Amino acid sequence: ALTTGIVGLPNVGKSTLFNAITQAGAESANYPFCTIDPNVGIVEVPDHRLNVLTELVEPKKTIPTAFEFTDIAGIVEGASKGEGLGNKFLSHIRQVDAISHVVRCFADDNITHVNGSVDPIRDIQVINLELILADFESVDKRIARVSKLARTKDKEAVAELAVLEKLRDAFEEEKPARSVEFTEDEEKIVKGLHLLTSKPVLYAANVSEEDIMDPEQNDYVAKVKAFAAEENSEVIVVCAKIEEEIAELEGDEKQEFLDDLGIAESGLDQLIRAAYQLLGLQTYFTAGVQEVRAWTFKKGIKAPQAAGIIHTDFERGFIRAEIVSYEDLVDAKSMAVAKERGKVRLEGKEYIVQDGDVIHFRFNV
Ligand code: GDP
Repeated sequence: ALTTGIVGLPNVGKSTLFNAITQAGAESANYPFCTIDPNVGIVEVPDHRLNVLTELVEPKKTIPTAFEFTDIAGIVEGASKGEGLGNKFLSHIRQVDAISHVVRCFADDNITHVNGSVDPIRDIQVINLELILADFESVDKRIARVSKLARTKDKEAVAELAVLEKLRDAFEEEKPARSVEFTEDEEKIVKGLHLLTSKPVLYAANVSEEDIMDPEQNDYVAKVKAFAAEENSEVIVVCAKIEEEIAELEGDEKQEFLDDLGIAESGLDQLIRAAYQLLGLQTYFTAGVQEVRAWTFKKGIKAPQAAGIIHTDFERGFIRAEIVSYEDLVDAKSMAVAKERGKVRLEGKEYIVQDGDVIHFRFNV
């Protein structure tokens, strides 16, 4: 399963946020395919469409979809020099598909900052630099190997060398691979390099309890937003401390608490949805009287693979899929009316599943 890793310097609120994630705790019995590991937190993806479908269909139960956050511990500064724990930090990052970077945007004299003062941009750069240096080293090694081949006019080697040099130039300016523009062909080469700084990033600006109601007042947040905009990354404002409290509440209690704070959606829920998008994940639904359920798939997959997410037998025996879009179903208010209106399509093996599709798979066992 795709996962996003939580990184950040010490004392920025990572553990507090991760705690909130595990507290919010998805019912793990529903997600047997998820990882069981103390460093992995499984979160349910908030999706109002699931509530609407539940009202329409009135099923016995409703199950949201879920995905994973990984808590990445380890020493950050000096990691690229390959010292013990630092090495571990990098190898953990290598295994995740996207990065949620927690930055401290709260001042609190009682909580020491590893670098003496609160300065979110410096903090971001400390971590980014370690990742850039690690990539720099692997690109340098690769250049040494590929340039010999390139001299023999080997076509592939020439193309790869051009990409590697472009990357090296960026790293020299302390820029991550994700900030470099590549053509589609070059992009394929970059993918094969498995660089740390190619992974998509979002920043979680951790603010104080006072600032969460009006984060625009917080200068640190403004700085992080400006920085993130330059590399096309998103910023989510959270107050890890409050998220920890919210995570213990359920349903109405949670909503009341949020209303009291004057915020529409908890920072954690926003973070979950942003990370989901960052990973290129989308949701389709199954809606029967027994169960209405949301399923996660990687954008671009075809109907049989989507069926395989429910059960491998569904993929193996796939015949076709009956599909209605969420909007059409809600307009029609029932499957029967949607059918009458011709909104329910029969799709085959080549159909590319869309976010919001409500699907009934037909298959042979
Ligand atoms: P980590 O080292 O990044 O995992 O940081 P922790 O989650 O352990 O947090 C370090 C300290 O900062 C703890 O004492 C937390 O209670 C405190 N802290 C975390 N988030 C917030 C916050 O949003 N506001 C305030 N005031 N303190 C926080």
